[in-house]
Amino acid sequence: MLVPKVQLIPPPEKVLDLLRSTGALLEGHFEFPNGKHSDFYFQMPLAMRYHGNARVLNVALSRLLRQEPEVLSALPNCAVVAPAAGGIPVAFGVREALNANQIFWAEKEEGRYYFRQYLDARGMKCILVDDIVRSGRGIQLMVDLIRQAGAEVIAIGSLVHYKDAQLDIGDIPYYWLVDIDCKFHDPKECPACNAGVPVEKVWV
Ligand SMILES: [Zn+2]
Repeated sequence: MLVPKVQLIPPPEKVLDLLRSTGALLEGHFEFPNGKHSDFYFQMPLAMRYHGNARVLNVALSRLLRQEPEVLSALPNCAVVAPAAGGIPVAFGVREALNANQIFWAEKEEGRYYFRQYLDARGMKCILVDDIVRSGRGIQLMVDLIRQAGAEVIAIGSLVHYKDAQLDIGDIPYYWLVDIDCKFHDPKECPACNAGVPVEKVWV
């Protein structure tokens, strides 16, 4: 019997198609709250609201993470950890796909991340995941937070990664499904503004 070949890890273009089809990826001319302009606008929760899509993305990311020997050897006694809200559906899906034995996430207040009081993560091996990594600042703060909690980050994964993200994570392996070359411009230097394309303001 011929078994159809299942595409286990969708290529970046397929991931982008999925994000476009759910409204999670808009292409145009956007102004962000910091005043910068860009051609791309991601709202990952719009893709994650459909279980089937969330599953495709999370399973694909988990298959990439599984390539890491340290992840394989740590399972199932490790945690999948997310920063605040956006990363939580990714953490649940990746935990399920990897069969890791726990998941927890940080709270975010005034730009600072913290774990719940009495969370004991000492000695724990952690896989840090998020939906999208733009500047890299959030992931950087999470790596620091996990280390301060006495735990170790053995791998990082995100569905989307911006090429210009700045991360100082040493030799921690980092996997993503899509790497986006997204430039942010000051309005004065924005090609779309110069071409007279109307701009749309976005909230976050
Ligand atoms: Zn512009």
